Amino acid sequence: MTTIIDGNEIGDQITAGVAACTDTLVGEAVTPGLATVLMSDDGASETYVSMKQQACEEIGIEGFHYEISADEPAETLFSTIDELNADPAVHGILVQMPVPDHVPKRDVLERIDPMKDVDGFHPENVGRLVAGNARYKPCTPHGIQKILAETGVETEGKDAVVVGRSDIVGKPMANLLIQYGPGGNATTTVCHSRTDDLAEKTRNADIVIAAAGVPEMIDGSMLSAGTTVIDVGINRVDADTEKGYELVGDVDFESAKAKADAITPVPGGVGPLTIAMLMYNTVKAASLQSGVDISLP
Ligand code: NAD
Repeated sequence: MTTIIDGNEIGDQITAGVAACTDTLVGEAVTPGLATVLMSDDGASETYVSMKQQACEEIGIEGFHYEISADEPAETLFSTIDELNADPAVHGILVQMPVPDHVPKRDVLERIDPMKDVDGFHPENVGRLVAGNARYKPCTPHGIQKILAETGVETEGKDAVVVGRSDIVGKPMANLLIQYGPGGNATTTVCHSRTDDLAEKTRNADIVIAAAGVPEMIDGSMLSAGTTVIDVGINRVDADTEKGYELVGDVDFESAKAKADAITPVPGGVGPLTIAMLMYNTVKAASLQSGVDISLP
């Protein structure tokens, strides 16, 4: 029987632990604060930001939200970040990506105070992650580590294939999998758009993590029996629905399920963990900045 991994349930468990930490901080007169900044007219980005703000509200994190018109100069975004860096009520800053083309993304990431960089994308935090001394693990890969742990999937000594090499998912995922310790110690292969014979790589994997942003590109014929399949993809494809589209992953769910030992669905798999781990990092940021100890799940 294939286990269909319930990301909502795992996310709720983690969120409950994070909410308890929030209560501890509030009891010490520290209300964790997360600022989200949206500089985009993209509907999906707006949805993601509002989900993040809603999650804050549900667990008692104070949310601050800023919207900057997509045609404003980059300097407007930089000065907003500067103000948030200086604001002691704000412990975490998240600039929703992508930013418009005229805004240099790397400069945005480097502008955020590394202590408030709850996405974990500032070069200082990336360096710490690679060095095995992470401060804030990027939310999606960290959530996947939690999924694997909660599902009882051992990574040590296993062959893991990460499909995708983005800075937000593929690279940090691979880095987490090769670290020493629980959730790591995997023999990890990173595949990407220039990989020859992807199917040969995925067929030899115990764990496949698909983060390519290509609808249903990994199907059952590319997997061996017993594989754990984590589908990160969220792709809008045209469909005869009220909205005119539906969300599908990077994995062809039905054929992959027939081969997999365990598999995440889309939606309801990795997505809820991404938000839960953002709350986790925000509460951790509040703890680090205030010096109040908490015990995160
Ligand atoms: P990205 O576009 O930045 O990176 C995609 C990567 O996939 C690239 O490194 C590219 O080399 C690789 N790739 C593209 N086509 C490929 C192919 N045919 N074969 C092998 N590799 C290929 O995307 P991203 O930001 O890493 O996101 C990936 C997917 O995950 C998207 O669908 C995105 O919406 C989704 N996502 C989901 C969550 C979540 O919380 N569930 C979070 C972040 C991203």
